[in-house]
Amino acid sequence: MRTLISGGTVVSSTGAEPADVLVEDERIVALAAPGSELAAAFADGARRLDASGKLVIPGAIDVHTHMEMPFGGTTSADTFETGTRAAAWGGTTTIVDFAIQRKGEPLRTGLDAWHAKAEGNCAIDYGFHMIVSDVNDQSCKEMDVLVGEGVTSFKLFMAYPGVFYSTDGEILRAMQQARISGATVMMHAENGIAIDLLVSQALARGETAPRFHGTSRPDLLEAEATRRAIALAKVAGAPVYIVHLSTTGALEAVAEARGDGQNAFAETCPQYLFLSTDDLAREGFEGAKYVCSTPLRAREHQANLWRGLRTNDLSVVSTDHCPFCFKEQKELGVGDFSKIPNGLPGVEHRVDLTYQGVLAGEITLPRWVEINATTPARMFGLYPRKGVLAPGADADIVVYDPGATQTISSATHHMNVDYSAYEGKAIAGRVDTVLSRGHLVIEGGQYVGEKSHGRFVPRKTNEYLI
Ligand SMILES: [Zn+2]
Repeated sequence: MRTLISGGTVVSSTGAEPADVLVEDERIVALAAPGSELAAAFADGARRLDASGKLVIPGAIDVHTHMEMPFGGTTSADTFETGTRAAAWGGTTTIVDFAIQRKGEPLRTGLDAWHAKAEGNCAIDYGFHMIVSDVNDQSCKEMDVLVGEGVTSFKLFMAYPGVFYSTDGEILRAMQQARISGATVMMHAENGIAIDLLVSQALARGETAPRFHGTSRPDLLEAEATRRAIALAKVAGAPVYIVHLSTTGALEAVAEARGDGQNAFAETCPQYLFLSTDDLAREGFEGAKYVCSTPLRAREHQANLWRGLRTNDLSVVSTDHCPFCFKEQKELGVGDFSKIPNGLPGVEHRVDLTYQGVLAGEITLPRWVEINATTPARMFGLYPRKGVLAPGADADIVVYDPGATQTISSATHHMNVDYSAYEGKAIAGRVDTVLSRGHLVIEGGQYVGEKSHGRFVPRKTNEYLI
């Protein structure tokens, strides 16, 4: 089975050139100059996709999703089936989701449970990080075993005491273990002990509305935890990757460490680039739609996050997709913001939203591809199989129409959630066609994929370690 994608502009992390993409079965076999003899010969008998006037980019990789995740007495609203379908609609062809070790259980039990949820249900390929919530000799041994199975990154939490929280000693221990296997420790960097005190004080004062979720998680406590995580990683001699970085102070900590040559990395998410405390403070209980952790910040942080994306102190944009319906799920926190499940839907809109950054002159077109696809692939061991359009790579390809316009709305999105955090936002650019390993998933405004198509992808270790 051959596919020829012709007439488009191929955008990579290093530039944009007109080129035809030649696909055989599940792989890219060549990129050819438009109208070349190679492409003409290949076209004979091939399925042809016309990309004239469009951008042809590597399928995006979202390295931070939470499908079917239990949290606060409920479960995130997207299953692997609905969530990976929505991801595909938005031009994402690989997700890396978080399997969870519960306290007192082996890592294996958690990983097996996540394999069972995902297997046979995904429209696109997927991998797993492992959340380690019980650091001990046994789980550290298991970390090395999991690296051998392609689960090469482990997330720890400085937040959520009593649930996922690890002490500084436990974090250091896990980082020492990661150093041995080359694994990357991902960190939720917020000072959860201090935050829990502020939360209980706020509630005692009668401050129960959603906006107090933000005021009880001050940006200084993210900056402090980020600095501490980086120091612990330096002591361990291990890499650290800060997830959902949202503040200028935390960004400065990462930039300093990188300036010193440390293996410190960070991602941010569209919600921190486009939404703010103004949304969290919306009238009535509306702000609950915007409750996530780290919380949305004051608008003035946004320009610095865009700058971080340009300087590569922020290397990746992921979504932290963790949708909870407004009805019945977010509503668990009526009268007590601390009971609002934390998380925003976003897996469908990352490529589109970051494209607005290209149009606004915040990032270049190649950088857009780099932060959405190429760097996530290299950071999490999927490269060069994913994240690049090159001979031998999986034919995970998005044809993107820069001339189209759309309005984001829960009425038209494909995530299994009853609201959109970007309701009514008019944007330019839209996914036109999506292939996953050479198979059409989105074509002509239709989902044409299958839930049995997506496969687990074992990952290698981080390519950026120095
Ligand atoms: Zn998360």
